[in-house]
Amino acid sequence: MKEIILKYALKNAHDFGGKVNDKVVLGSVLREHPELKTDVPKVLKEIQNVIKEVSKLNQEQIKAKLEQLAPELLEEKKEEILGPLKPLPNAVKGKVVVRIAPSPSGPLHIGHAYGTSLNYEYAKMYGGKFILRIEDTNPENIYAPAYELIPDDANWLTENHVSDIIIQSSRLGIYYDYAEKLVGMGKAYVCTCEAEQWKEMKAKGVACVCRSLNVKEQQTRYAKMFNEYAEGEAVLRLKTDIEDKNPAMRDFAIMRIVEHVHPKTGKEQRVWPLMLFSVAIDDHETGVTHVLNGKDHADNAKKEQMVMACFGWQPPVYKHWGRINFEGFELSTSKTRRAIEIGEYSGWEDIRIPFLRSLRKRGYQAGAFRRFALEMGLSLNDKTVSIEEFWKNINAFNREIIEPQANRYFFVRDPVKIKIMGAPKKVAQIDLHPEHLERGKRTLKANGEVYLTEDDISKLVPGKVHRLMDYCNFEFADGKYKFVSESYEDYKAAENKGMIIHWLPQEEHVVVEVLLEDGKTALGLGEKSMGQLKEGDLVQLERNYYARVNQVDKSKVVCWYLHK
Ligand SMILES: [Zn+2]
Repeated sequence: MKEIILKYALKNAHDFGGKVNDKVVLGSVLREHPELKTDVPKVLKEIQNVIKEVSKLNQEQIKAKLEQLAPELLEEKKEEILGPLKPLPNAVKGKVVVRIAPSPSGPLHIGHAYGTSLNYEYAKMYGGKFILRIEDTNPENIYAPAYELIPDDANWLTENHVSDIIIQSSRLGIYYDYAEKLVGMGKAYVCTCEAEQWKEMKAKGVACVCRSLNVKEQQTRYAKMFNEYAEGEAVLRLKTDIEDKNPAMRDFAIMRIVEHVHPKTGKEQRVWPLMLFSVAIDDHETGVTHVLNGKDHADNAKKEQMVMACFGWQPPVYKHWGRINFEGFELSTSKTRRAIEIGEYSGWEDIRIPFLRSLRKRGYQAGAFRRFALEMGLSLNDKTVSIEEFWKNINAFNREIIEPQANRYFFVRDPVKIKIMGAPKKVAQIDLHPEHLERGKRTLKANGEVYLTEDDISKLVPGKVHRLMDYCNFEFADGKYKFVSESYEDYKAAENKGMIIHWLPQEEHVVVEVLLEDGKTALGLGEKSMGQLKEGDLVQLERNYYARVNQVDKSKVVCWYLHK
């Protein structure tokens, strides 16, 4: 026993500059050897002795001894979610720069969580940078609150590892400069042809008259895009190959006029880059080395490289993933936004929608979503993830993270008061967490009158011996509840064992409300000590589910359902 204690005492001393916390050591020892739980005072005494010994050692001696006794405890604690990501081509440690580039149409949902996590995990793997770029160059598709919501979600998902936030509408001057350069180099031209007519010509591989005008004329026309032409009257086109095998690559547009008022720049700006153009410029300007996104971006990536080639820039490495179909989920940001606007949902935190803000409030951890992305990996194959499969995975990953944190409490839904005849008075002491005894116990004062969940009462089989957890055994017969005995051993030995159920004392409790995933509320009572919980605490409501505490006040505790 001494050796086990010594290694944990050394570990604790090593991690905390020589100081040893006896409770932490006790917790570790009992986790490794649960059989010692039967004699905690003896273990504690031994721990005190060991601490005396350890306190005579300096940091170096502590480390040397620990190395000899339990080198595995000295290993740097690795982040558990280090996953099986395939290496990226041409990636150099410390030099990788990746980015996510959402448009500001709303906050992030579970689909975004995949791409964001994957990019971030690669940045982490290579000790590189993770940039968040908000692509708001289409003034017609902007939801202003998204400028706040997206960075907040991305920071949550990456544990505050967003290296840089770039907002494209604040960089218009840069795009104008590069566009002007292309015009000056004779590599771009202002096309004033009627859109339909131009399309027909392009389909045939025939150039329009605008293309052959000289540079000076193009410069004049480019200037006119800012103050003379109306929306739709002129676009700036890149001069590519008008006979390119792929018609989409023939002289595509890179700048256009949009009169729609932009929430950031107001009416001031009316010339806007097309996405491929601002993306090419920004990827170069911010030193993006690897572009990791869905394969629906593959065509744009080709166009981006054509823009980069005009300036002689080295393009980043492009890696696309296949379409991930989250079957059974409503992931349309615009549809959800409309549903919120007409009051169908209460907001982006509504418990019923698969957006990160709502999932956070239920107690989901960023690590669970990152783990999911790691397991999916980066592959070009299309995948379908059903709603059941998704939650099964995410819940398992999340449970692994929160299980050690979540203390246990009794929550009696739809409470019914009963009296157990002949039951003794008892102060029941129950561990807050069976694997973390150092956290102490919760106390329930029992006097025979208790609250049980209506559902449990309806299931009590007459004649059987039922047990109230950590209190007593009883029988239900002739409409009455009768005390049988107190010890758990008696219950175990009973021939006709019934249920083991949780309960609450009649006198001490708090009102608890749990918001369920379908938006309904479970009402009931909880242990009095739940009144001491704080917003954000994760709990396991025994025999029910995990939940997150979202509000505590004098009258009640409000939790949100997490998962089983
Ligand atoms: Zn033209």
